Amino acid sequence: MTIPPSSTWKITRQELSEWLDALAGVQTLIAPRQVNDTLLYRPVNSSREICLQFDRPALSAKEFFFPPTERLLKIEKKGKEISLAETLPDVQQVLFGLRPCDARGLSTLDALFLKQPPADPYYARRRENTTVIVLACKEMGPLCFCTSVGGAPDDPTGADIMLYETDEGYQVQALSEKGQAIIPPYWQATQATPPSVQVEAPVYSVLEHNAWPEQFQADYWQTAGERCLSCRACAYVCPTCRCFIVRDEMIRPGEFERLRCWDSCSGENYRRVAGGHRPRANPGERLRNRIFCKFYYYPEQYDLGELPACTGCGRCIEVCPVNIDITEILTDVGRLA
Ligand code: SF4
Ligand code: SF4
Repeated sequence: MTIPPSSTWKITRQELSEWLDALAGVQTLIAPRQVNDTLLYRPVNSSREICLQFDRPALSAKEFFFPPTERLLKIEKKGKEISLAETLPDVQQVLFGLRPCDARGLSTLDALFLKQPPADPYYARRRENTTVIVLACKEMGPLCFCTSVGGAPDDPTGADIMLYETDEGYQVQALSEKGQAIIPPYWQATQATPPSVQVEAPVYSVLEHNAWPEQFQADYWQTAGERCLSCRACAYVCPTCRCFIVRDEMIRPGEFERLRCWDSCSGENYRRVAGGHRPRANPGERLRNRIFCKFYYYPEQYDLGELPACTGCGRCIEVCPVNIDITEILTDVGRLA
Protein backbone atom coordinates (compact mmCIF):
# COMPACT_ATOMS: atom_id res chain seq x y z
CA MET A 1 0.00 0.00 0.00
CA THR A 2 1.37 3.43 -0.91
CA ILE A 3 0.61 6.27 1.47
CA PRO A 4 -1.26 9.02 -0.42
CA PRO A 5 0.30 12.49 0.00
CA SER A 6 -2.93 13.77 1.60
CA SER A 7 -2.82 11.36 4.55
CA THR A 8 -3.69 14.11 7.00
CA TRP A 9 -6.85 14.56 9.02
CA LYS A 10 -8.22 17.15 11.43
CA ILE A 11 -10.21 15.66 14.27
CA THR A 12 -11.94 16.92 17.38
CA ARG A 13 -11.09 15.82 20.91
CA GLN A 14 -14.27 13.74 20.91
CA GLU A 15 -13.21 11.98 17.69
CA LEU A 16 -9.82 11.25 19.20
CA SER A 17 -11.48 9.62 22.23
CA GLU A 18 -13.78 7.53 20.03
CA TRP A 19 -10.84 6.39 17.90
CA LEU A 20 -8.79 5.38 20.94
CA ASP A 21 -11.75 3.54 22.48
CA ALA A 22 -12.22 1.63 19.23
CA LEU A 23 -8.50 0.73 19.14
CA ALA A 24 -8.59 -0.41 22.77
CA GLY A 25 -11.43 -2.75 21.85
CA VAL A 26 -9.40 -4.70 19.31
CA GLN A 27 -5.80 -4.63 20.51
CA THR A 28 -3.70 -3.65 23.48
CA LEU A 29 -3.59 0.12 23.79
CA ILE A 30 -0.62 1.54 25.69
CA ALA A 31 -0.75 5.23 26.56
CA PRO A 32 0.42 7.77 29.15
CA ARG A 33 -1.46 7.02 32.36
CA GLN A 34 -1.16 8.32 35.90
CA VAL A 35 -0.11 5.50 38.23
CA ASN A 36 -0.30 6.86 41.78
CA ASP A 37 1.87 9.98 41.49
CA THR A 38 3.84 8.85 38.48
CA LEU A 39 3.04 9.18 34.79
CA LEU A 40 3.93 6.02 32.88
CA TYR A 41 3.21 4.42 29.53
CA ARG A 42 0.80 1.68 30.57
CA PRO A 43 -1.98 -0.43 29.01
CA VAL A 44 -5.38 1.26 29.21
CA ASN A 45 -8.91 -0.02 28.67
CA SER A 46 -10.43 3.26 27.55
CA SER A 47 -9.53 6.81 26.52
CA ARG A 48 -10.76 8.08 29.91
CA GLU A 49 -7.65 6.61 31.54
CA ILE A 50 -5.26 8.46 29.21
CA CYS A 51 -3.45 11.59 30.30
CA LEU A 52 -3.16 13.96 27.32
CA GLN A 53 -1.50 16.92 29.03
CA PHE A 54 1.91 15.82 30.16
CA ASP A 55 5.61 16.58 29.99
CA ARG A 56 6.95 13.09 29.37
CA PRO A 57 6.43 9.85 31.29
CA ALA A 58 8.95 8.93 33.97
CA LEU A 59 10.04 5.79 32.12
CA SER A 60 10.59 5.32 28.42
CA ALA A 61 8.53 2.87 26.37
CA LYS A 62 11.42 0.51 25.61
CA GLU A 63 10.00 -2.09 28.01
CA PHE A 64 7.20 -2.81 25.52
CA PHE A 65 9.79 -3.99 22.99
CA PHE A 66 12.67 -5.04 25.20
CA PRO A 67 11.22 -5.99 28.61
CA PRO A 68 13.30 -5.72 31.81
CA THR A 69 13.05 -9.51 32.14
CA GLU A 70 12.01 -11.75 29.29
CA ARG A 71 11.89 -15.49 28.78
CA LEU A 72 13.77 -16.45 25.61
CA LEU A 73 13.56 -20.22 25.84
CA LYS A 74 11.80 -22.92 27.77
CA ILE A 75 14.14 -25.82 28.37
CA GLU A 76 13.02 -29.35 29.30
CA LYS A 77 15.27 -32.23 30.27
CA LYS A 78 13.90 -35.77 30.29
CA GLY A 79 16.64 -38.30 30.97
CA LYS A 80 19.33 -37.51 28.40
CA GLU A 81 16.89 -35.67 26.10
CA ILE A 82 16.95 -31.88 26.17
CA SER A 83 14.36 -29.84 24.27
CA LEU A 84 14.38 -26.09 23.70
CA ALA A 85 11.25 -24.10 22.83
CA GLU A 86 11.37 -20.47 21.73
CA THR A 87 8.78 -18.32 23.47
CA LEU A 88 8.20 -15.55 20.95
CA PRO A 89 5.83 -12.80 22.13
CA ASP A 90 2.31 -12.81 20.79
CA VAL A 91 1.30 -9.15 20.93
CA GLN A 92 -0.74 -6.78 18.81
CA GLN A 93 -0.48 -3.31 20.28
CA VAL A 94 -0.82 0.40 19.64
CA LEU A 95 1.48 2.72 21.51
CA PHE A 96 -0.30 6.05 21.75
CA GLY A 97 1.07 9.39 22.92
CA LEU A 98 4.72 8.49 22.63
CA ARG A 99 6.88 11.57 22.90
CA PRO A 100 9.17 12.20 19.89
CA CYS A 101 12.31 11.53 21.98
CA ASP A 102 10.99 8.08 22.91
CA ALA A 103 10.05 7.26 19.32
CA ARG A 104 13.55 8.21 18.27
CA GLY A 105 14.82 5.97 21.06
CA LEU A 106 13.07 3.06 19.33
CA SER A 107 14.85 3.88 16.07
CA THR A 108 18.12 3.81 17.99
CA LEU A 109 17.28 0.37 19.42
CA ASP A 110 16.32 -0.80 15.91
CA ALA A 111 19.90 -0.22 14.78
CA LEU A 112 21.07 -3.00 17.10
CA PHE A 113 18.09 -5.33 17.33
CA LEU A 114 16.80 -5.15 13.75
CA LYS A 115 19.10 -3.57 11.24
CA GLN A 116 22.30 -5.53 11.78
CA PRO A 117 21.74 -9.21 11.01
CA PRO A 118 20.75 -11.38 12.62
CA ALA A 119 17.67 -9.49 13.81
CA ASP A 120 16.55 -10.25 17.35
CA PRO A 121 13.32 -12.26 16.84
CA TYR A 122 11.76 -11.19 20.16
CA TYR A 123 12.28 -7.49 19.58
CA ALA A 124 11.42 -7.83 15.87
CA ARG A 125 8.08 -9.50 16.65
CA ARG A 126 7.06 -6.70 19.03
CA ARG A 127 8.17 -3.95 16.66
CA GLU A 128 6.32 -5.55 13.75
CA ASN A 129 3.12 -5.91 15.78
CA THR A 130 3.14 -2.42 17.30
CA THR A 131 1.80 0.77 15.74
CA VAL A 132 3.45 3.88 17.14
CA ILE A 133 1.42 7.10 17.47
CA VAL A 134 3.64 10.02 18.43
CA LEU A 135 2.23 13.14 20.07
CA ALA A 136 4.31 16.22 19.23
CA CYS A 137 5.38 18.28 22.24
CA LYS A 138 4.09 21.84 22.48
CA GLU A 139 6.96 22.87 24.70
CA MET A 140 10.10 21.36 26.14
CA GLY A 141 10.25 20.12 29.71
CA PRO A 142 12.74 21.56 32.21
CA LEU A 143 15.29 18.78 31.68
CA CYS A 144 14.72 18.14 27.96
CA PHE A 145 17.49 18.87 25.47
CA CYS A 146 16.41 17.01 22.32
CA THR A 147 17.23 20.02 20.14
CA SER A 148 20.92 19.71 21.17
CA VAL A 149 21.19 16.10 20.04
CA GLY A 150 19.51 16.14 16.63
CA GLY A 151 15.88 15.82 17.79
CA ALA A 152 12.94 18.19 17.93
CA PRO A 153 9.59 18.45 19.75
CA ASP A 154 7.89 17.45 16.47
CA ASP A 155 10.51 14.98 15.22
CA PRO A 156 8.60 12.25 13.32
CA THR A 157 11.47 9.70 13.47
CA GLY A 158 10.06 6.31 14.40
CA ALA A 159 6.38 7.36 14.15
CA ASP A 160 3.71 5.47 12.21
CA ILE A 161 1.36 8.36 12.94
CA MET A 162 2.13 11.90 14.08
CA LEU A 163 -0.42 13.75 16.14
CA TYR A 164 -0.34 17.51 16.72
CA GLU A 165 -2.55 19.26 19.23
CA THR A 166 -4.28 22.31 17.75
CA ASP A 167 -6.77 24.86 19.10
CA GLU A 168 -9.65 22.89 17.59
CA GLY A 169 -8.47 19.39 18.48
CA TYR A 170 -5.78 17.37 16.75
CA GLN A 171 -4.14 17.07 13.38
CA VAL A 172 -3.26 13.50 12.43
CA GLN A 173 -0.68 12.49 9.85
CA ALA A 174 -0.10 8.89 8.75
CA LEU A 175 3.56 8.20 7.99
CA SER A 176 3.56 4.48 7.31
CA GLU A 177 1.29 1.76 6.00
CA LYS A 178 0.86 0.49 9.56
CA GLY A 179 -0.31 3.95 10.60
CA GLN A 180 -2.63 4.30 7.64
CA ALA A 181 -4.19 0.92 8.44
CA ILE A 182 -5.65 2.10 11.77
CA ILE A 183 -7.13 5.37 10.50
CA PRO A 184 -10.96 5.16 10.49
CA PRO A 185 -12.12 4.98 6.85
CA TYR A 186 -14.84 7.58 7.44
CA TRP A 187 -12.41 10.40 8.41
CA GLN A 188 -12.21 13.08 5.71
CA ALA A 189 -8.60 13.67 4.62
CA THR A 190 -7.36 17.26 4.25
CA GLN A 191 -4.40 18.82 2.43
CA ALA A 192 -3.26 20.65 5.59
CA THR A 193 0.45 20.75 6.38
CA PRO A 194 1.52 19.84 9.93
CA PRO A 195 1.58 22.81 12.33
CA SER A 196 5.10 23.97 13.09
CA VAL A 197 6.19 23.68 16.71
CA GLN A 198 8.37 26.54 17.97
CA VAL A 199 10.11 26.09 21.29
CA GLU A 200 12.73 27.87 23.31
CA ALA A 201 15.31 25.69 24.95
CA PRO A 202 18.93 25.84 26.02
CA VAL A 203 21.27 24.42 23.40
CA TYR A 204 24.24 22.43 24.66
CA SER A 205 27.25 22.05 22.42
CA VAL A 206 28.07 18.44 21.67
CA LEU A 207 31.49 17.42 20.39
CA GLU A 208 31.57 16.36 16.77
CA HIS A 209 31.66 12.62 16.33
CA ASN A 210 35.35 12.38 15.36
CA ALA A 211 36.50 14.63 18.21
CA TRP A 212 35.48 12.18 20.95
CA PRO A 213 38.45 9.74 20.85
CA GLU A 214 40.86 12.57 21.76
CA GLN A 215 39.03 12.98 25.07
CA PHE A 216 39.30 9.35 26.11
CA GLN A 217 42.46 9.79 28.23
CA ALA A 218 41.35 13.04 29.88
CA ASP A 219 41.67 13.12 33.70
CA TYR A 220 38.21 14.66 33.69
CA TRP A 221 36.50 11.26 33.68
CA GLN A 222 37.94 10.27 37.05
CA THR A 223 36.67 13.46 38.64
CA ALA A 224 33.30 13.30 36.89
CA GLY A 225 32.74 9.71 38.00
CA GLU A 226 33.92 10.12 41.62
CA ARG A 227 30.44 10.44 43.05
CA CYS A 228 28.73 7.86 40.84
CA LEU A 229 27.15 5.13 42.99
CA SER A 230 27.03 2.61 40.11
CA CYS A 231 23.33 2.21 40.82
CA ARG A 232 22.45 1.82 37.08
CA ALA A 233 19.28 3.90 37.39
CA CYS A 234 20.43 6.13 34.51
CA ALA A 235 20.53 3.15 32.14
CA TYR A 236 17.22 1.68 33.23
CA VAL A 237 15.27 4.88 32.55
CA CYS A 238 17.08 5.56 29.28
CA PRO A 239 15.19 4.94 26.03
CA THR A 240 18.35 3.87 24.22
CA CYS A 241 20.38 1.84 26.76
CA ARG A 242 20.07 -1.79 25.73
CA CYS A 243 22.68 -3.89 27.55
CA PHE A 244 21.41 -7.22 28.85
CA ILE A 245 22.55 -10.42 30.51
CA VAL A 246 21.23 -13.90 29.82
CA ARG A 247 20.89 -16.54 32.51
CA ASP A 248 19.19 -19.89 33.01
CA GLU A 249 16.92 -20.57 35.98
CA MET A 250 15.21 -23.72 37.16
CA ILE A 251 11.41 -23.62 37.31
CA ARG A 252 11.15 -27.15 38.74
CA PRO A 253 13.34 -30.25 38.37
CA GLY A 254 13.71 -30.97 34.66
CA GLU A 255 12.23 -27.62 33.61
CA PHE A 256 14.22 -24.44 33.08
CA GLU A 257 13.92 -21.07 31.44
CA ARG A 258 16.47 -18.88 29.73
CA LEU A 259 15.94 -15.26 30.75
CA ARG A 260 17.20 -12.02 29.31
CA CYS A 261 17.41 -9.15 31.82
CA TRP A 262 18.44 -5.52 31.51
CA ASP A 263 21.99 -4.78 32.55
CA SER A 264 24.10 -1.63 32.56
CA CYS A 265 27.71 -0.68 31.93
CA SER A 266 27.39 1.55 35.02
CA GLY A 267 27.20 -1.51 37.26
CA GLU A 268 30.33 -2.57 39.16
CA ASN A 269 30.35 -6.13 37.86
CA TYR A 270 29.60 -5.38 34.26
CA ARG A 271 32.05 -7.30 32.05
CA ARG A 272 33.66 -9.04 35.04
CA VAL A 273 35.50 -12.07 33.72
CA ALA A 274 36.62 -15.40 35.20
CA GLY A 275 39.19 -14.77 37.91
CA GLY A 276 37.38 -11.61 38.97
CA HIS A 277 39.07 -9.10 36.64
CA ARG A 278 36.92 -6.06 35.88
CA PRO A 279 38.10 -4.12 32.82
CA ARG A 280 36.40 -0.95 34.09
CA ALA A 281 37.06 -1.20 37.77
CA ASN A 282 36.36 2.38 38.80
CA PRO A 283 33.24 4.50 38.37
CA GLY A 284 35.05 7.12 36.26
CA GLU A 285 35.89 4.48 33.66
CA ARG A 286 32.31 3.27 33.68
CA LEU A 287 30.84 6.76 33.36
CA ARG A 288 33.23 7.48 30.50
CA ASN A 289 32.09 4.29 28.79
CA ARG A 290 28.42 5.23 29.10
CA ILE A 291 28.98 8.67 27.61
CA PHE A 292 31.30 7.37 24.87
CA CYS A 293 28.77 4.68 24.06
CA LYS A 294 26.06 7.31 23.53
CA PHE A 295 28.15 9.76 21.57
CA TYR A 296 30.86 7.71 19.85
CA TYR A 297 30.85 3.91 20.05
CA TYR A 298 27.23 3.18 19.18
CA PRO A 299 26.91 5.81 16.40
CA GLU A 300 30.21 4.50 14.98
CA GLN A 301 29.25 0.85 15.17
CA TYR A 302 25.70 1.22 13.90
CA ASP A 303 26.16 3.97 11.31
CA LEU A 304 24.16 6.67 13.05
CA GLY A 305 26.53 9.32 11.64
CA GLU A 306 26.47 12.52 13.70
CA LEU A 307 23.29 11.42 15.51
CA PRO A 308 24.13 10.26 19.04
CA ALA A 309 22.44 7.42 20.87
CA CYS A 310 20.97 9.97 23.26
CA THR A 311 17.59 11.52 22.56
CA GLY A 312 17.87 14.33 25.08
CA CYS A 313 14.95 13.10 27.20
CA GLY A 314 16.68 14.18 30.42
CA ARG A 315 15.54 11.15 32.42
CA CYS A 316 19.04 10.20 33.55
CA ILE A 317 19.40 13.68 35.04
CA GLU A 318 16.09 13.38 36.85
CA VAL A 319 16.79 9.97 38.35
CA CYS A 320 20.46 10.20 39.35
CA PRO A 321 20.67 10.19 43.17
CA VAL A 322 23.93 12.17 43.14
CA ASN A 323 22.97 14.71 40.46
CA ILE A 324 25.24 13.58 37.68
CA ASP A 325 23.95 15.61 34.75
CA ILE A 326 24.69 14.59 31.17
CA THR A 327 24.27 18.17 29.92
CA GLU A 328 27.00 19.30 32.35
CA ILE A 329 29.24 16.52 31.10
CA LEU A 330 28.65 17.52 27.48
CA THR A 331 29.48 21.12 28.35
CA ASP A 332 32.62 20.13 30.29
CA VAL A 333 33.88 17.84 27.53
CA GLY A 334 33.24 20.59 24.99
CA ARG A 335 35.52 22.85 27.05
CA LEU A 336 38.29 20.22 27.13
CA ALA A 337 38.49 20.09 23.33
S1 SF4 B 1 19.11 12.14 28.28
FE1 SF4 B 1 19.93 10.40 29.47
S2 SF4 B 1 18.20 8.98 29.67
FE2 SF4 B 1 17.68 10.40 27.98
S3 SF4 B 1 18.42 9.40 26.10
FE3 SF4 B 1 20.09 10.73 26.80
S4 SF4 B 1 21.38 9.37 28.07
FE4 SF4 B 1 19.39 8.34 27.83
S1 SF4 C 1 22.16 7.17 38.09
FE1 SF4 C 1 23.91 8.45 38.70
S2 SF4 C 1 24.83 7.35 40.44
FE2 SF4 C 1 23.48 5.87 39.38
S3 SF4 C 1 24.88 4.83 37.91
FE3 SF4 C 1 23.92 6.54 36.81
S4 SF4 C 1 25.40 8.23 37.00
FE4 SF4 C 1 25.94 6.70 38.58
